[in-house]
Amino acid sequence: MYLHGTMTINEAGHLEIGGVDTVDLAKKYDTPLFVYDTALIKERARAFKQAFEAEGVSYQVAYASKAFSCIAMYQLAASLDLSIDVVSGGELYTALKAGVEPGKIHFHGNNKSHGELEMAIKAGIGCIVADNFYELELLEELAANMEQTVSVLLRLTPGVEAHTHEFIATGQEDSKFGFDIASGQADKAAQIAERSKFIDLLGVHSHIGSQIFETEGFVLAIEKVFNQLQAWQEEFDFVPRVLNFGGGFGIRYVEGDKPLEPETYIREIVKETKKHADRLGLAIPEIWIEPGRSLVGDAATTLYTIGSTKDIPNVRRYLSVDGGMSDNLRPALYDAKYEGLLANRAHDKAEETFSVAGKCCESGDMLVWDMPLPEVQHGDVLAMFCTGAYGYSMANNYNRIPRPAVVFAEDGADQLVIQRESYEDLTKLDLAYQANVKETSDV
Ligand SMILES: *Cc1c(COP(=O)(O)O)cnc(C)c1O
Repeated sequence: MYLHGTMTINEAGHLEIGGVDTVDLAKKYDTPLFVYDTALIKERARAFKQAFEAEGVSYQVAYASKAFSCIAMYQLAASLDLSIDVVSGGELYTALKAGVEPGKIHFHGNNKSHGELEMAIKAGIGCIVADNFYELELLEELAANMEQTVSVLLRLTPGVEAHTHEFIATGQEDSKFGFDIASGQADKAAQIAERSKFIDLLGVHSHIGSQIFETEGFVLAIEKVFNQLQAWQEEFDFVPRVLNFGGGFGIRYVEGDKPLEPETYIREIVKETKKHADRLGLAIPEIWIEPGRSLVGDAATTLYTIGSTKDIPNVRRYLSVDGGMSDNLRPALYDAKYEGLLANRAHDKAEETFSVAGKCCESGDMLVWDMPLPEVQHGDVLAMFCTGAYGYSMANNYNRIPRPAVVFAEDGADQLVIQRESYEDLTKLDLAYQANVKETSDV
């Protein structure tokens, strides 16, 4: 079994993460429980940063916080000198509350509201990644009213879409995000931004996909971005100060996933950027990237307690856990695959195959279809690996299941960073039904 980060199996045959026995964690905090290996997060952040430093270019590594957002995570990211990407007022609020320096926050999204943009400009965040014409209009109006200049990147749709092993190049990308290059939308957006007194156009952004295992998609996107920059250079002497090539760096979820080292992605991105900048006679702009999954994805493990089992002879053996699509939507949403083991009997041979079911009232609430495991017993602790990205952040209250707790584990110590939701929390926003609402509202 492939063990991630600091995982080990101790003398008792228990899975340890960050030097902490996960069976003890399950007892102490109950299950389902997310356990983050923070040493692994730190190692990844360092690897990305050192790769840029080795290339001798100016850079920012921004944590795409939609992957996992909470106060402690923002504080950890800030302590690692990462910038922060947010995609909503809620993420922005949490980052600010965590004490993240506003200048290091970048705001993404295809439908930022008037209120969200106002909040961002008031806070003085580092940059807004403008996605569409409506947003440019709103920004212009807000900035003028507030008599403030806003730093902006234009999100370009380069017509390159990368997924794991393949990438698809399309003439005009069909995407809800960004200004399309091929149809001239990007050109028009740049003209609007350049004309504006209140918009300071720093440069451009592109993000080509997620869980990418190759560098070809980035190479192709960089070429398309520079072709656009060349046109702007000719049209209005535009000099980009920032080029943001997004995130999407892959991780190993299951056997067969072969991500590249952070250095490999960065070396290639820097090399291509230098090549094209030289071609246009431009100074090398600051290069930004936005890893989400590759910073936190394989750093977390979800611990579940096994409850009921169901054997259908010659068909399938099911085991059910005390969570499911309420704490991990990815299998239902993307058919995502996971590996794991029994945390309390990690040395036991996996001789059986079980399908891991969640407890939600949906047949589609299956976490793993075929997981090799030893013969399981009620009360065993199932550890499911690589749940750190888009796990807790997509957690929900379907079936009124409270959201799990989250702990950080490192150097033999654990700390609770998100409390388990209580039944009381679940009804906190509910108001009582009023049978005679007309009468009461009339008085
Ligand atoms: C989601 C997203 C990221 C992060 O993607 P990962 O696959 O988690 O690295 C980065 N940039 C943008 C614009 C995104 O939408």
